[in-house]
Amino acid sequence: MNRPTNAIAVEGLTKRFGETTAIEDLSFTVEGGELFGLLGPNGAGKSTLINILCTLLGPTEGTARVNGHDVTSETGAVRDSLGIVFQEPAIDEELTGAENLAFHARMYGKRKAERQQRIPEVLDLVELAEVADDPVENYSGGMQRRLEIGRGLMHEPDVLFLDEPTTGLDARTRRDTWEYIERLNEESGVSIVITTHYMDEADFLCERVAVMDQGEVVAIDSPAALKASLGGDIIALGLANDGGELFERLDAQSWVREYTPTEDGVAVTMARGEQRVADLVRLADDAGAAIESVDLQKPSLENVFLSLTGSTISEREASDAAESHTEAADEDSSMERPTETAEATEAPGAVE
Ligand code: ADP
Repeated sequence: MNRPTNAIAVEGLTKRFGETTAIEDLSFTVEGGELFGLLGPNGAGKSTLINILCTLLGPTEGTARVNGHDVTSETGAVRDSLGIVFQEPAIDEELTGAENLAFHARMYGKRKAERQQRIPEVLDLVELAEVADDPVENYSGGMQRRLEIGRGLMHEPDVLFLDEPTTGLDARTRRDTWEYIERLNEESGVSIVITTHYMDEADFLCERVAVMDQGEVVAIDSPAALKASLGGDIIALGLANDGGELFERLDAQSWVREYTPTEDGVAVTMARGEQRVADLVRLADDAGAAIESVDLQKPSLENVFLSLTGSTISEREASDAAESHTEAADEDSSMERPTETAEATEAPGAVE
């Protein structure tokens, strides 16, 4: 496949909806063939970014290129370069797998000869050749998800967007779907960009992850490098009071590399955490902290997010939900949505 080095290049990208800044001054690139993740809580700006990259929304400021094509001035070429699989199912359960792909290919304007050639190729690619003529309602959740991915691959895109690819799947099927996505990336060479708010998904799947929070990319690197940047293990103390003098005492310990107050206590970073649990509990006790829980954690992307933003992803989602509830009551901000939603719903047909 002949592709430019960058599957995606974003520079200074900003999108505002009235008073709300959904994404602000984003700059990053995704290399051709990369399996790249956008990780962040609900409301971080992932969908806005994807919608701009798919030409469903226009940027307020900045530029974005997909496969070398500008999302504002070369929308046709951008749409030809990318496939997208949304969270909401878009397949017809009463049709067979092959019929679903044929329907999609016709919608996309593929001629019969092309369809007849491409459909078996895609069915092979998504490992559904054997059940091609079975109705989709007989497929398992994982098979249906692979068929959705097949739809996105019909026109041989260079870049495939998967929006929250495993939401709603059981644990086993999630794992199988991850392995499938990894194989697809390795074997077909297609660049894959996934959005997810699941840390384990980003950790397992992605070569590099852009950690997003409140419209900004707060870190971008491989999961291993992001975790290593934390510089050690974490002991999370749940506290029933304000910790007394705990924070002053932590400041004075040479073995404490860093600590971050959390909503229900404090997360303390150190080397070889298992050897420090007793020291930390004693220290907290002496400082007048009322310890409710002690949890030793080896670094995960959740800890990376916490250390970068001061909140866990679920805390962030809970506080954003509370905020948007307040906003919904505010007439001005709730007026913004319909206009932009209309813009967003105009174009999908063309991308299909
Ligand atoms: P994510 O996909 O990470 O959940 P979104 O891109 O959907 O995040 O949202 C980012 C921010 O932009 C949120 O504060 C959201 O409320 C706001 N937003 C998204 N779409 C619109 C819209 N059409 N009108 C107004 N605000 C929007």
